[in-house]
Amino acid sequence: MSTRSTFVIVGAGLAGAKAAETLRAEGFDGRLLLVGEEAEWPYERPPLSKAYLRGEADRHSLYVHQEGFYAAHDIELRPSTWVRSISSGARQLELATGERIGYQRLLLTTGAAPRRLPLPGADLDGVHYLRSRGDADALAAAAAAATHVVVVGTGWIGSEAAASLRQLDREVTLIGPDTAPLVRVLGPEVAGVYRDLHADHGVRLQLGTRVAGFRGDGRVEAVVTEDGRTIEGDLVLVGVGAVPRTELAEAAGLPVAGGVLVNEQLEAVGAAGIYAAGDVAAAWHPRYQRYLHVEHWANALNQGPAAARNMLGRSVPYARLPYFYSDQYDLGMEYSGLAADWDRVVVRGDLGAREFIAFWLKNQRVVAGMNANIWDVTEPVQALIRGGWPVDPARLADPDIPLDQVTGELTTRSAR
Ligand SMILES: Cc1cc2nc3c(=O)[nH]c(=O)nc-3n(C[C@H](O)[C@H](O)[C@H](O)COP(=O)(O)OP(=O)(O)OC[C@H]3O[C@@H](n4cnc5c(N)ncnc54)[C@H](O)[C@@H]3O)c2cc1C
Repeated sequence: MSTRSTFVIVGAGLAGAKAAETLRAEGFDGRLLLVGEEAEWPYERPPLSKAYLRGEADRHSLYVHQEGFYAAHDIELRPSTWVRSISSGARQLELATGERIGYQRLLLTTGAAPRRLPLPGADLDGVHYLRSRGDADALAAAAAAATHVVVVGTGWIGSEAAASLRQLDREVTLIGPDTAPLVRVLGPEVAGVYRDLHADHGVRLQLGTRVAGFRGDGRVEAVVTEDGRTIEGDLVLVGVGAVPRTELAEAAGLPVAGGVLVNEQLEAVGAAGIYAAGDVAAAWHPRYQRYLHVEHWANALNQGPAAARNMLGRSVPYARLPYFYSDQYDLGMEYSGLAADWDRVVVRGDLGAREFIAFWLKNQRVVAGMNANIWDVTEPVQALIRGGWPVDPARLADPDIPLDQVTGELTTRSAR
């Protein structure tokens, strides 16, 4: 691209910031804008449900780059700036101020927003969501004054926030329709570890039920479930998933299905010159042969730079395995791969002691792996998934056999 080119990144979160950094690192010397509606420069969200929420990390530790980075790299960072629309035909976008900006390449990194619960009482004071730093500040301030917090949703954000709020010594009830926190991703065996973890730390679990509404007079006082339970609480956090922020893309006529549909170079299907990365994207994955919408930190961290390289014409497919991590109390974990369904789960280590590696197997091949309180094994776990070889479950479960030696001849016992 010539020095006259203008590249615009819409969405100043992790994916956008890493894309801007990469464009400059890879030699792009045209005009580069990073436009974001939030009032501050790009920051990381994972601490918002963990150390930052607990007051153990400060604002500055969240930033993707420290102050001065954007100016030093001639990146025009425009905070507090909402992009209203894109005209893909005219290669132009319009800001809320009415200003129009032409571009040669456009990257959408608009992220996701918390899914709202359209239920009676959902707009009462004291009902919170958690996505931005402002949300975390509001939740922390409300938690400081609250006695009993009800967390609605047993996914990652609900589970992590419940843990942090317990660590802050609040009374916490965790409500969800499933049999255990995180069971949809992990299955009952491994999710049971999280159910017991929360119970052991004094979280009251109200499982197998959905929320029907919220009660209170101006302020929330209780959560009511569909099966008639009333759970009193003076603060509610709703964490029931996120919805990709595809509104700009949809209005511009880009293909959207659970995210902006992009090819393996992260370029929008049928819209040359427009790319998407991070939580907003649903990217064609060469390994899985389908569009994957991944709402995790590592995906934003790596897709931003991959999109940047492709904007420069490098034609690099994005083929990383999905990966995420979570920290709850003293249990840290990393999960690699994708297990939509599986035949069996093999555990190396001790679920009860919360120190193990779990493997999800389909047709005797490892499709996903999770290490819990065991570290530095992501590479071998991912190698097993990428390799796609049949594995011997007995060897996989045996902690004395190195992970790179679990393939090969199946033993008679495990082959049966
Ligand atoms: C509380 C919390 C905890 C998490 N913990 C973990 C974890 O432990 N592990 C893990 O793997 N992942 C975790 N995640 C997920 C991870 O943070 C996200 O996957 C990551 O932030 C996605 O980055 P992104 O750049 O795609 O989107 P975002 O970080 O959401 O950035 C998108 C930005 O675009 C802006 N924007 C949207 N529309 C417009 C517009 N029209 N004009 C201008 N700006 C716009 C938004 O305001 C936002 O600032 C967590 C997320 C949250 C919220």
